[in-house]
Amino acid sequence: MSANALAPYRRLTIKIGSALLVDGKTGRLRSEWLASLAADLAGLKAAGCSLVIVSSGAVALGRRRLGLDARSLSLEQSQAAASAGQIALSQAWAASLGEHGIVTGQILLTPNITEERRYFLNARTTIATLLALGAVPIINENDSVATAEIRYGDNDRLSARVATMIEADCLVLLSDVDGLYTAPPGKDPEARHLPHVAAITAEIEAMAGGAASHLSRGGMTTKLEAGKIATQAGTAMIIARGTESHPLKALGDGARHTLFEPAHSRAHARKRWIMGTLEVAGNLSVDAGAARALRDGKSLLPIGVTRVTGDFARGDAVAILGPDGREIARGLVGLGREDADLVKGKNSARVAEILGAGSRAELVHRDNMVVLMGMEAKVG
Ligand code: GLU
Repeated sequence: MSANALAPYRRLTIKIGSALLVDGKTGRLRSEWLASLAADLAGLKAAGCSLVIVSSGAVALGRRRLGLDARSLSLEQSQAAASAGQIALSQAWAASLGEHGIVTGQILLTPNITEERRYFLNARTTIATLLALGAVPIINENDSVATAEIRYGDNDRLSARVATMIEADCLVLLSDVDGLYTAPPGKDPEARHLPHVAAITAEIEAMAGGAASHLSRGGMTTKLEAGKIATQAGTAMIIARGTESHPLKALGDGARHTLFEPAHSRAHARKRWIMGTLEVAGNLSVDAGAARALRDGKSLLPIGVTRVTGDFARGDAVAILGPDGREIARGLVGLGREDADLVKGKNSARVAEILGAGSRAELVHRDNMVVLMGMEAKVG
C-alpha cells in the first residue's frame, strides 16, 4: 500500500457526495464528520495545497427543511429543495472551515459555463482569485435554475470539469466506495480491487457494470466518465471511501483507493485543446525575428507584431501569421483586440506606459501557444 496518496499533488479538487454529508435516515447534516473533513482540509492547506471543493448535499438537506418526504421528488420539488438546502450547505461549509480560519466562497455552475468561453474564463478567474486570496471555493451545480437539458445531474462529472478548468493536478472523489473493482462487488464475490488504472479502456469501463443510465447517477459509471474527462486533460483521479471520519488523512496514511493516471501532461492536454477545439477569432501578423523566437519556444511579445485583425477578447484563440502570411502558431491571446492594436510594435517599456505597470509582457504566452511545424502542430 502506497504511503501518502496525496503527496504528489499541490492543486486538488475534492468532490464530496451527498451520502457523506447528509445522514440518509434523518436528513440531517453529519456535522461531526464534516468537522473531521474540515480539519483534514486545513492540514492540506497549511501544507501548501490549493483546494477547491465540489460539494453535493443541497437537495438532500433541503428536502427535510421543506418537509418533502416523498421518496422520489418531482423536478420542481428537487429544484426547490436544492434552493433551500444550498443555504444550509454553504453555512455548514463556511462554519466548519471557518473554525480553522479559512474563508469559503460559493460558486454555483451550470454546464454551459464550461461550454461557453466567456463564462468559462470568468468562472476560472474567480476561482483562481479566491485561491490566490487564500480562500476555498465551494462549488455545486446551480440546481434550482438549471433545466433538465442543461443539467450535469451528477457532481462527479461537474467536479471533473472544475478540476480541468483550474488545471488541478488531482481530482479526489470521496464517496461510499473505496475504488474500482474488476466487477461490481455487490454482485460478484470474486471481484478484485484495482489500486491503479493506467488508462480508462473499454475493458475498464466494462468493470464498472456497463453503460450509464439515469439509475447509475453517482455510480461507478459516472465516476469513470469523470475519470475520462480528468485524465484526458492531464489531471489524475482518485476514488476513495469517505464515509469514516478524517477521510483525507486516511488517504494520506495509505487507505485503499484507486488512482487513475493522467493520459497526458497538463501542458500537452492544454495544447491539444487549443488546436482541436477553439475557433480562431483573429490574427496577429509577426515579423521574421518574432517568428524565429516562437520557433525557439519563446512567448510572443508586442514588439514583434506588425498587424492585428479580427475581433477578439482576452483569452480567445488567435492565429499567428508569419511574414509570408502563413499561420505559424496558434494560441490564447493575453489582450483584447483594442489593446493588442495599441501595443503592437512597441517595446516592453512603452507597453507598460500604455497599459499601466503590472500589465503582462507577453501578447501570447508560450504555455498558451502551439507552434506549427510545417503542416503539423508541435504539441507538447
Ligand atoms: N447537486 C446535487 C446536490 O447538491 C447533487 C448531485 C450529485 O450528488 O451528483 O444535491
